[in-house]
Amino acid sequence: MSDLTFCQGPVCHTYTTQDRLKGMKGSKTYQTRRRSNLLFNEFCSMQCYNDWFRMFGNRAIDHFGRLTEPKHLTEQNAWIKNYDWRGNADESHRYYTVNKITREQRPITEEQYRDRNYTLNIS
Ligand SMILES: [Zn+2]
Repeated sequence: MSDLTFCQGPVCHTYTTQDRLKGMKGSKTYQTRRRSNLLFNEFCSMQCYNDWFRMFGNRAIDHFGRLTEPKHLTEQNAWIKNYDWRGNADESHRYYTVNKITREQRPITEEQYRDRNYTLNIS
């Protein structure tokens, strides 16, 4: 049972489905779901995820940092990776990085494309 974790939905136990009904006859209760696979590792359903966010979302955003001004995508951080697919066996895909502001493209290797840390962006 150790691989099962509880859904973090604050009112998960109030959804009266058969799978939540546990216990011996005469002392059955609806219980928070336990699962090995949960949405975002925390929730048994979108309903429970939404319940959590409705109840705690504002506090979570305040805790981790609320945006009070717009973020800006600039020439310095607008590089994304992409590739043109090539179907012929004698041709490899064409990997490149493109600036979403200036539209400038620069070729990169497949290794650079797959490297999650490789970027031309300046943070
Ligand atoms: Zn739940």
